[in-house]
Amino acid sequence: MTTTLSLEQLRERGDAFNTEISREYYLALSGQKPSAELQPIYAKHADVMSRDALELTIDAFRGASEGSEEQRAARLLVDWEADAQSSRELAGLDERQITWEASAFVQLADGRQIPFEKASIEMANSSDRDERQAIEKARATLVARELAPIRRERFQRERDITEELGLAANYNATFELLSGVSLAGLRAECEQFLRETQAMWDEVFPEFVRKELGIEPNVATRSDAGALFRAKDLDPYFPASTMEETIRTQVRSMGIDPTASGRVTFDTGDREGKRSRAFCSPVRVPDEVYLVLRPHGGQTDWMTFLHELGHALHYAYMRPDLAFEYRWLGDNSITEGYAMLFDHRLKDTGWLKRYTELGPSRIPGYLRKTGFEELHFLRRYSAKLIYETDLYGGGVPWDSLPDLYVDRLTTATTFQYNPSDAFVDVDPRFYAARYLRAWQLQALLEETLIERYDIDWWRNPRAGPWICSALFSEGQRELAHEQAQRVAGKALSFAPLVRSVERMLG
Ligand SMILES: [Zn+2]
Repeated sequence: MTTTLSLEQLRERGDAFNTEISREYYLALSGQKPSAELQPIYAKHADVMSRDALELTIDAFRGASEGSEEQRAARLLVDWEADAQSSRELAGLDERQITWEASAFVQLADGRQIPFEKASIEMANSSDRDERQAIEKARATLVARELAPIRRERFQRERDITEELGLAANYNATFELLSGVSLAGLRAECEQFLRETQAMWDEVFPEFVRKELGIEPNVATRSDAGALFRAKDLDPYFPASTMEETIRTQVRSMGIDPTASGRVTFDTGDREGKRSRAFCSPVRVPDEVYLVLRPHGGQTDWMTFLHELGHALHYAYMRPDLAFEYRWLGDNSITEGYAMLFDHRLKDTGWLKRYTELGPSRIPGYLRKTGFEELHFLRRYSAKLIYETDLYGGGVPWDSLPDLYVDRLTTATTFQYNPSDAFVDVDPRFYAARYLRAWQLQALLEETLIERYDIDWWRNPRAGPWICSALFSEGQRELAHEQAQRVAGKALSFAPLVRSVERMLG
């Protein structure tokens, strides 16, 4: 490659590249194309993801003065380019994993076969504990033998590739440099959160395990957790037929056009090959955003729709003049925070009363269980983040990680975990950190919205315009902790989350 790109050209080309990739994913996952043809797009835009482009962004990052806008922008561009380098080298392993997951079968002792991808759903839907245990045993054996080695190699190589970039001393330090997020700080917060909520957890865990599963707390495993949280008996109160219109009406009542003047397309028709879970595809940001769903009802469906709607509105209400890196890249704790702000309406008494069919008699019990579930997921993600800093950190031998994984996750959640998942139940590149910070940001934004626009801010016509102009329009220029300071005048922390869990548990 003899042509040299400028940063400005890189931004333009990056915009075009992301648009083509996103459109391809949208068409494939919504059933409009049989498969995503990504290789030709990567080939066409090879210079955007080249070693030269990476060097260009590193030079800009190193040349920018500390704390400047140039440095903020260049940091995001280096992060993007560095990720692209490792994604390209890991593509073969990732493709092997996708192919394996789509074709593997769990072989039960009684001769039955279950597609691997259906195993978790089968367990969650089964009220027969012996059946859950049988599926889990067979699933874990299969994963340990076939999937875990692929994933272990993937993480080993990802660590090596990232460290070879030479940007910082090791993988974790490189992540901290390029993300602007302190892993050590977040890990310490997680450890403190686990300690501080231990007594609350020890009190509610036995109650729910006995009541919902009819088993003794000391025998509960991760496969029981899935069944406990599935709660399919409540699905009728979250009907598919009214979901979209109800939520669109609520969004309009807080002064936001749910289509963002036509920039958001609700792709809700039934179509062969369309993925069953709702998802959001930003194809051109902010002008062309798709919210794809195939409503089937139930609380999970409502929650996913609200979550993806939060993402869609964030993309569609970004300022069009924002630089490429602030529209497409940045701290995903921001967009995940908005998505959670929307999906947390299912934990809001007033919202549940007004927009679902649960009715006043079921809401207190529902909310208490939701509080238990929230605490469980917060403790699980805290343990995951702590474990993943060890996995990427290099201080623990790879062979010792499965035992460490079981110890960390089982101690935090009390559900017995399986060593076969030590390399499978891992979000690459510390996405758990993005979620945890999003959770913290969402709780702080909620408190701010209540202060400004009352307890039912979600139907206050002044709240929406503020959300669009103060939050959505900024894209992901800010880091989540910077936004927390600007908007709420507070640091991100677990404190508002603990308060909300305590409220839900009553
Ligand atoms: Zn999300």
